[in-house]
Amino acid sequence: MGGAYEVTGSAVKKYYSIAGMMVATQDASGLQYLLTDHLGSTVAVTNSSGTLTSQQRYLPFGAPRTIPNSPILGTDFGYTGQRLLDSGMGGIMDYKARFYSPCIMQFHQPDRLIPEPYNPQSLNRYSYVRNNPIRYNDPSGNVPIDCYDGSRYCRPTPKLVSRPEWGASEPGSIEPLPNAPFDEPYYSVDRPDGYQPYSGSLEDTLDTIVIHHEGDEESMSVKDLQRIEMERGFYDLPYHFIVGQDGTIYEGRLIAVRGAHVPGFNTGKIGILWVGDFSPGLEADPTALDPSGDDPSPTLNQINATKTLIVWLDDLYGIDGVAAHIDYGGTVCPGANAIPSVNQLKIFAQNLR
Ligand SMILES: [Zn+2]
Repeated sequence: MGGAYEVTGSAVKKYYSIAGMMVATQDASGLQYLLTDHLGSTVAVTNSSGTLTSQQRYLPFGAPRTIPNSPILGTDFGYTGQRLLDSGMGGIMDYKARFYSPCIMQFHQPDRLIPEPYNPQSLNRYSYVRNNPIRYNDPSGNVPIDCYDGSRYCRPTPKLVSRPEWGASEPGSIEPLPNAPFDEPYYSVDRPDGYQPYSGSLEDTLDTIVIHHEGDEESMSVKDLQRIEMERGFYDLPYHFIVGQDGTIYEGRLIAVRGAHVPGFNTGKIGILWVGDFSPGLEADPTALDPSGDDPSPTLNQINATKTLIVWLDDLYGIDGVAAHIDYGGTVCPGANAIPSVNQLKIFAQNLR
């Protein structure tokens, strides 16, 4: 069977797929993993211990682009995960229903059907994915498939209430109260932990989202929260986002500035505050959106808004994972009743990739 179990002479080559995408091969030389891009093109091959053995990139219509360690070895499944049958004449690729040439950027045979008759790009029956090869691939050779649909490139941007919209005070503009428990001045050489924009790229710096809780009244405004935190000695809100119990997301400390929410670990951590107190044993608050008695938990709106935020932040900065404040020790934050929700978000974040 081609692409599953192949015998050439006495040599056996096995292919392993998950959800229709080839992920590994095994032959006499051992197990190799195939890594792909958003179109399913094989861009790198590693050995069984994860060491890169070869790699390759592609021009938009699939001709190989030479880079260090190229071309890929050990597989002929390349551009969009389709098989290269012959590398002569610019290559002939098996797209199942038809053969495709990355050199002339067209199929060798006309499409047997016109998938989208009202789109003039489909009327050329030899054209490849409506001449939009960065966005579409064609697994069957019959119908272009949108590879950005549902992928990281078209995920929703969450609606944020920006700092001007909620009337934020400027960082450093509110004096701490006497004997304030915290002391976060603006950065200086003597005060390297001060309020400071990151110097490197945010994509390289930001790695983990940390969940916190604060406040016991759902009516607490973000403006009040900022004032309280600055009076406690922070230079600005210590967190980067605040998620109300109704799911409204507020912009907190600027994302480009290091937070002040996990002492000793703040670099690279994005702080998200859930408004509420999720410690067990609290009195019921009849005015809260979740007046569920002694043990309030984060609301569904809060959790769903945070998921949107996680997806968006991952798209922008490449997030490694989600943590609870308590994971860094020295606190019960975000409260025992919030831990199951944070655990749910940890799994959610792992499954993004
Ligand atoms: Zn906390």
